[in-house]
Amino acid sequence: MLHKLRRPVKDESTERGTLCVDHEKEVCSIYCDQCHILVCHLCVCEGIGKHSQHKILSLDTALEKTKVLLSSTEDKLHSVLATLTEQTSKLEENVKEIEGMHSEACKKIDQQYQRCLDDITACLAQHRQQTLDKLCTAKSVVLEQHQNHIADHSRQLEDTAALLATCGSMLATDQGRELLSRAGELPGIVGKQESTADRLQSLKQAYQDLLYDRSIHQDLKQSVVDFHTSTLDCLKALLVDDVSECQNMIPVIKTSASPGSDAVTTSSKCLTTWGFNSSTFTAEPLTRSAVWSVTVEKNTSQFGDHRAGYIFGVGISCEKVPVKEQVGMNSYSSGIICSSGNIMFSHNGKMEQLMPLDNLPLSVTVHCKVNQSKGVLLSYTITDATWGDSLHGKKILCEKFIGKPIFPVFTVSQRVKMQFPTYV
Ligand SMILES: [Zn+2]
Ligand SMILES: [Zn+2]
Repeated sequence: MLHKLRRPVKDESTERGTLCVDHEKEVCSIYCDQCHILVCHLCVCEGIGKHSQHKILSLDTALEKTKVLLSSTEDKLHSVLATLTEQTSKLEENVKEIEGMHSEACKKIDQQYQRCLDDITACLAQHRQQTLDKLCTAKSVVLEQHQNHIADHSRQLEDTAALLATCGSMLATDQGRELLSRAGELPGIVGKQESTADRLQSLKQAYQDLLYDRSIHQDLKQSVVDFHTSTLDCLKALLVDDVSECQNMIPVIKTSASPGSDAVTTSSKCLTTWGFNSSTFTAEPLTRSAVWSVTVEKNTSQFGDHRAGYIFGVGISCEKVPVKEQVGMNSYSSGIICSSGNIMFSHNGKMEQLMPLDNLPLSVTVHCKVNQSKGVLLSYTITDATWGDSLHGKKILCEKFIGKPIFPVFTVSQRVKMQFPTYV
């Protein structure tokens, strides 16, 4: 049988239904469930129909079955769509979060990098200055001895020159009488000459000491040789992260029992100010190298801008800090302070930027090594909830801190409170 294969067009679809593709005079009245096609009664004739052995459905049944399948497929597609949309948006959120964290991590790495450089530079600059100061003092002592001796000499020189001039003028006299008339001056001249010679003799030892003592020359040369070694020692002290000798502790703060001028309250391991803009607490002095931590939290009873003014300070001092003063703002205390939205290292009001204050709470841990020949070694770590230990720094504190008692000190403003950990 020759099939004319052509698509049924609209005018061929009668009101009665679609015409069969294979039998163009016949209307499709049934459905082949195997080929998913509308067919006519001839299509299913035994032997000649293409669909004779196929599973055949009535149009109604086929329609119902198709609708059911379509609708369940549609449901599944909706669910896939929802899953895809949700997963995409989660991935996009993740991308944003990773981007944000990446840029934050870069910033923090930059801060740490800068901190290392600045700490090393400050330490070396301090060591260099100390070495230069020491050299200058040693030189000055020896030079002063030289200057004194030279001044003495120059007085003797003047006297001697004057005597010489007198002698010369007397010898130059042609007239014997005239010379004899001045002979009375001679004992005086002789006496002065003798005393000058005596003086020269008495200073001989001192003169020889100055001339032949080469120790200052040696010292100056040696200082250049030693500088490199001592610089390395200095760097080692700064770089070695050995805190094993620091004992974990909670600073003991004794406050005035009587209310009144020292109106400061310390509740269990929590520091807050009352009545003042800020209060400073001085703990008992360290008896050995130690480490302590505080957590700084927002004071929920006090609202205010955490990015303005002095917020808090944690550090050390070589004297008791008056309650109304602030850590890092005077010559005898140094520490980590938070002021104007930035965390800084401050000594005597001179502040060094460490990092911006992102958020509270954060913790400050201070390692303090005392009895170091080069000064007090102060290491600090700033820890926040998101990033953990996000900044480390180290200072060698000299001058006032050497050989003094070291007090842990804390300043809290009204906007924050400080908590000591409950462990230890
Ligand atoms: Zn047919
Ligand atoms: Zn079929």
